[in-house]
Amino acid sequence: MTTPQVMRIMALSINTAARAGSIIRDVMQRGNLGIVEKEGKDDLQTEADRSAQQCIIASLSRKFPNLKIIGEEGDSNLDVKPEWLVTDENEEFLKNCCPEEWREIKEEEFVVWVDPLDGTSEYTQGLLEHVTVLIGVAIKDRAVGGVIYQPYYKQSNGEIGRAIWGLKGLGTGGFKPTSPPKGQMIITTTRSHLTPLVQQALDALSPTEVIKVGGAGYKVLQLLEGRAHAYVFASPGCKRWDTCAPEAVLEAYGGILTDLAGVHYSYAAEVDYKNRMGVLATVPELKHSDIANQVPKDILDALRS
Ligand code: AMP
Ligand code: MG
Ligand code: MG
Repeated sequence: MTTPQVMRIMALSINTAARAGSIIRDVMQRGNLGIVEKEGKDDLQTEADRSAQQCIIASLSRKFPNLKIIGEEGDSNLDVKPEWLVTDENEEFLKNCCPEEWREIKEEEFVVWVDPLDGTSEYTQGLLEHVTVLIGVAIKDRAVGGVIYQPYYKQSNGEIGRAIWGLKGLGTGGFKPTSPPKGQMIITTTRSHLTPLVQQALDALSPTEVIKVGGAGYKVLQLLEGRAHAYVFASPGCKRWDTCAPEAVLEAYGGILTDLAGVHYSYAAEVDYKNRMGVLATVPELKHSDIANQVPKDILDALRS
């Protein structure tokens, strides 16, 4: 029996994200980050973002030539060093059984959203634990599978880096699922893109604590590991590559990630990349629609305008 494409794409993504993670560590160790501003000082790109994306897109497209892949850093030169080309699919992941609903999906029907380095501001500031590599797998406009790789995570066995994955209908792997404390409302949000509107939305939800960390990937990890109940970001700054993998992993776990109005984003290839209506993510223990209903209408109107 042939292995379904979704399993192979996920299995190659897990190994490719790990390779991208080692490139990110190498660039940092060499010390010359090659920082350029994309759309201003709030939107940086480094040598690590560029090289990690080349590694991911070259590896995925070599094995899956008909896959539609959209990367944050635009068109990449795919003529990469041989050592950046990953060809092995993750064998541990391939031991899982493919959910029935994805078995027949063909290569042409996927859209893969790549954020080669999420948390670039934090990376340039040396806050390395906030950095993740995000590979999101969408089918028919929905985020279905995802890999969140932490290049600087220290495992108990001394190994550096870990891959967290999720596939709807199958579940998640790579971390220890933990519920957040009862009777509290801990919200995680941006640390480098705070605006008055972002603050207004936080205030409206009356958090018992606010945790400011970098990156969409690392914020969803706060939910998966029980350190926060919700991720709230009332700003149009995130893009589809920031949320595709985190949404898929969180939803495979039982949580929900939508815009601030409670509506799912489309991950079809032709969409406008900006998550204009912000981000709202909640753990399975919360009722997502209750939290979305607490977001004041004037905040939604401000995002719409
Ligand atoms: P943050 O929560 O600020 O760490 O942002 C999560 C992701 O969204 C990161 O990839 C950021 O680069 C991106 N992002 C958020 N706000 C902005 C913004 N105003 N301009 C550019 N990128 C942003
Ligand atoms: Mg990002
Ligand atoms: Mg990025």
